[in-house]
Amino acid sequence: MTVALNKKRALVLFSGGQDSATCLAYALTKFEHVETLGVDYGQRHRIELEVRESFRAALAKAFPDWGRRLGPDHQLNLSFLSEIGATAMTDEIEIISDENGLPNTFVPGRNLAFLTAAGALAFRRDIGVIIGGMCETDYSGYPDCRADTIKAQEQTLCAGIDVDLTIETPLMYVDKAATWQMAADLGGETLIELMRDHTHTCYLGDRSQRHDWGYGCGTCPACALRSAGYERFQA
Ligand code: ZN
Repeated sequence: MTVALNKKRALVLFSGGQDSATCLAYALTKFEHVETLGVDYGQRHRIELEVRESFRAALAKAFPDWGRRLGPDHQLNLSFLSEIGATAMTDEIEIISDENGLPNTFVPGRNLAFLTAAGALAFRRDIGVIIGGMCETDYSGYPDCRADTIKAQEQTLCAGIDVDLTIETPLMYVDKAATWQMAADLGGETLIELMRDHTHTCYLGDRSQRHDWGYGCGTCPACALRSAGYERFQA
């Protein structure tokens, strides 16, 4: 018999990047109780995992109502993804695109594994909604960020765990400029500042240079996307 999970409780896939941080703020305006999940998949740069706790703490302090709704953080280890290797996210190799235009920052199976782990955790925690920052608009064409993929996995989790589980992807059809705007709408300049100082997107893990849009090398594909989005948001 299908287990009816609590739809007032959400689990946010929170990596420490701008997109998932925006999803966390979104969830805190919409759900009574919000927990977060971070995944260690053997990524080259640990900085994203390190900024997660500072963002959560700063968010709870700046927005006390949100702080009351913010539940525990969970971290799971999916480092088998780096054992499979051969991606620019897990190995010390240059970021390039293959002949089909797919960059080697793509980690095959990563989001599928994340969502499976999230589904199992949600079941244990009586959480009915999983929220992820996947986006098919300007996100390098990763096939596991597409709406079709997410819908299929939602159905798989519901059938395979026998639960009534929903996956929400509030950023699916918005670009980076609109993601900045969403943060501004949710939490004003205060949230924009937290995004700038307590989230991390750079593929090279660079925290030495601070820009208007936050820390990063300024030239890798993730920095380029984040900074261009910020410029359009400011325009
Ligand atoms: Zn960068």
